[in-house]
Amino acid sequence: MPRLPETFATLYGHAPDGVWSAPGRVNLIGEHTDYNGGLALPIALPHRTSCAASARDDDVLRIASLQEESSVEVRIDEVAAGHPSGWTAYVAGVLWALREAGYAVRGLDVLVDGRVPLGAGLSSSAALECSVAAAASDLFGLGLLESAEGRAALAAACQRAENDVAGAPTGGMDQAAAMHCTPAHALRLDCRDGATSQVPFDLEAHDVVLLVTDTRASHALADGQYGARRDACEKAADLLGVEFLRDVVDRPLDETLDALPDDELRRRTRHVVTEIERVDAVVDALRDGDLDEVGRLFVASHESLRDDYEVSCTELDLVVDTAVAQGAFGARMTGGGFGGSAISLVRAEDVDRVSSAIEDAFAEARLTAPVSFAVTAAGSAARDRLSPA
Ligand code: ADP
Ligand code: MG
Repeated sequence: MPRLPETFATLYGHAPDGVWSAPGRVNLIGEHTDYNGGLALPIALPHRTSCAASARDDDVLRIASLQEESSVEVRIDEVAAGHPSGWTAYVAGVLWALREAGYAVRGLDVLVDGRVPLGAGLSSSAALECSVAAAASDLFGLGLLESAEGRAALAAACQRAENDVAGAPTGGMDQAAAMHCTPAHALRLDCRDGATSQVPFDLEAHDVVLLVTDTRASHALADGQYGARRDACEKAADLLGVEFLRDVVDRPLDETLDALPDDELRRRTRHVVTEIERVDAVVDALRDGDLDEVGRLFVASHESLRDDYEVSCTELDLVVDTAVAQGAFGARMTGGGFGGSAISLVRAEDVDRVSSAIEDAFAEARLTAPVSFAVTAAGSAARDRLSPA
């Protein structure tokens, strides 16, 4: 298969100015906490989305992907909610959001190649946005990749593209991971103030593997249920007189729950509060190298998401139950839920056994075959070294 720059040249009739890429992510713990001003702990995946791009001296965006048939040509000032529609919104939205934020950006020719599985809960959408944002930053001399503040500004523009143009009401974790993660570290992300810190996550040193299992399930419920969970959290925060549920983490949980009028709101709130506490418990356990404790916290997180937050599904539960039965330190669903992926922390020597057991369990339950792969904590959005000068 021709390399991305060659395909770009065939498509647009000139070479790209460079190739930029950004990673997908898995969240180790801290699920459904981002929109509650809480904590999350993602790692960047080795799987990346590449963006070959060249700067134009007009305002036209020409956007194509190796993964999609459709392409688009649109001027930046025509970009708006739902326009362009479909996948190209994620790309056009980034240039629009950068301009809205006051950065002097012009048009681009763009061809993307995504190696993050699409729609598997591994954040191919943020990988796409952030690869484009990285390209725009370099090609228009914004210099935003060079500092943490600049990267935060790029992440904010990417989130705005996803929320306002693509119309997906997601929190900012995915873009923060794609912009701030470093190899062999997880990113402790405080979603209230955007603060980030690096937590050692060097599994190779422990002969341990993080296995990601894409269940390939995607339940139609997902969108509506996500909105319903956000609404429940807002309502609970309102009733408790705080801006975010994060703000009640330091109060006695019993008192918080007693102040809520119904069981469902109490369970939603209990998930958010205990999940935020588990993030720092995992951070401590990782710093201590206590993988048994990390595993226990993974399982506690999964149970909370399954029983209190009710966002798991048969496939995710089956991965977790099977991995734990096979001796994993722990396992949990990751991402929004109702399908997508699960993660299992397993000894290197057990990886093949655990992934075959998961495959067998799915076959026995007559579910679509899942795809499991081992991942390491990789790096953030950057210009590719081999990219043309
Ligand atoms: P996730 O981010 O978990 O993969 P999303 O639904 O948020 O799932 O984003 C997936 C969408 O992002 C795809 O349906 C597509 O619109 C867009 N997308 C991601 N990567 C690419 C790509 N390489 N080419 C075209 N569109 C992409
Ligand atoms: Mg996404």
